[in-house]
Amino acid sequence: MAQGTFVQALRKEAALSGTFMKGRSLMLNGAVLSIEDSGSRFSKNVTVEGSVRGSRGDLYKTHVALDMDEHEVIDYDCDCPAAYRYPGMCKHAIATAPAYLGTSDIAPRLLYTPDAADEPLGVDYK
Ligand SMILES: [Zn+2]
Repeated sequence: MAQGTFVQALRKEAALSGTFMKGRSLMLNGAVLSIEDSGSRFSKNVTVEGSVRGSRGDLYKTHVALDMDEHEVIDYDCDCPAAYRYPGMCKHAIATAPAYLGTSDIAPRLLYTPDAADEPLGVDYK
């Protein structure tokens, strides 16, 4: 099986069709106030705990576990109402992943691959 990208993994896990883009917008707008990762940046599995400000100003705690080798989302959680209401990742959990990956120099290549190029980011990662 060909290795996917984190963009594909996050899209696959998103609760609703628009959730990925909402999560990415949150991240780009600075709604992810803090993130804390467990383990080394070089370990296969990384767990990230985030604080993400929702669209109404509420602060939510997120939890995302990533497989850095396979570019898969292993686990996720958030204490917002949508996370209880819908199966799949909410926009806060989605925002947490690129916020973490963005702190690593490998993130632009992992996240902003050509298959995401049809959706302008407003940020030039090249
Ligand atoms: Zn949430």
